[in-house]
Amino acid sequence: EERSVICAGCGVKIQSEAKDKLGYAPMTALEREVIICQRCFRLTHYNEVQDVSLTDDDFLKILNGLGQKKALIVKVVDIFDFTGSWLPGLHRFVGGNDVLLVGNKVDLLPKSLSHNRLINWMKKSSKELGLKPIDVMLMSAEKGIGIEEVASEIDRLRKGQDVYVVGCTNVGKSTFINKIIETFSGDTEQLITTSHFPGTTLDMIDIPLDDGRALYDTPGIINHHQMAHYIDKQELKVITPKKEIKPMVYQLNAGQTLFFGGLGRFDFVKGERTSFTCYCSNELHIHRTKQEKADDLYQNHLGELLTPPGPKSKESLPPLMKHTFHIKDKKVDIVFSGLGWVTVNGTNIDVEGYAPKGVNVTIRESII
Ligand code: GDP
Repeated sequence: EERSVICAGCGVKIQSEAKDKLGYAPMTALEREVIICQRCFRLTHYNEVQDVSLTDDDFLKILNGLGQKKALIVKVVDIFDFTGSWLPGLHRFVGGNDVLLVGNKVDLLPKSLSHNRLINWMKKSSKELGLKPIDVMLMSAEKGIGIEEVASEIDRLRKGQDVYVVGCTNVGKSTFINKIIETFSGDTEQLITTSHFPGTTLDMIDIPLDDGRALYDTPGIINHHQMAHYIDKQELKVITPKKEIKPMVYQLNAGQTLFFGGLGRFDFVKGERTSFTCYCSNELHIHRTKQEKADDLYQNHLGELLTPPGPKSKESLPPLMKHTFHIKDKKVDIVFSGLGWVTVNGTNIDVEGYAPKGVNVTIRESII
């Protein structure tokens, strides 16, 4: 049997296969006398937190633990993939604790979008998803927008208690925590430590607050419905927007189809000529075709004309599944989880959205 090596910093089992998983250390680090995982290494040498992903089981344990503490919970979601990054179970576990909901990556949305409207939309959507946050805020952790506001709101709402920051992987939680550290602690040397969460093998980043309390960074949970699991890193870069999204407007007649690379498909099935506005990464190629030709096109050109996926990742891409929607008269978004959405403003319209099996296609009241 293989002997397992334990991180001297946080006690997790060391592994060298998966960079983004708990306990990762490169092979070279294993030759050192004192072996620590990459996360602890970065933390102690650079005061920089790195997100690691968590098994569902460990996440449940953390959630269960949160309800038993008196703390402020800060839940970070990705505005570009709101439901995809939501963490559905959270409200059942927070106990009597307040939740501050923070929408990150606001820099991706068109500047013309009213933040108030977006915040109201988030409040309403949260309620529908079973959570009643004490406040809802927007920020861009990467661009440094709204960080100070969020920080002072955290300080106000925590009422002298500890703070736990939760979120699924890729919402920008580490970027946020690192910004907080950068902004608010002058000399961070030796300031940050890790602490063990009871009942799990997990360490949490423990950032001391000035009254003896701490802000804890919990590991991120993997969201199994994210498109990210079906394509490679390079392709993920294409579908992940990096700057303000330039909406693309298509005037379509019934019987026309839009392909988003080969990862999403939108069919306008029935209704008067209508304009459809697509919000996705500016680098993602949208291909317009006739609905009657769409199946053949997909069959013959997936991985080349319709890319991403590339020729390799297309082999393991699950088949596209169809989701049918009827739009009566409200302005709605058809959301392709992780990819973006199509805003539909018309009456009595039938549309179909396709995504790889396992990735959600949903309808929501328009965000914009
Ligand atoms: P974590 O897994 O939640 O810790 O997320 P990271 O902090 O590692 O960020 C995930 C990805 O989102 C990275 O590529 C970041 O550069 C990006 N990111 C984080 N914050 C923002 C933001 O405010 N705006 C944009 N556009 N990207 C962001």
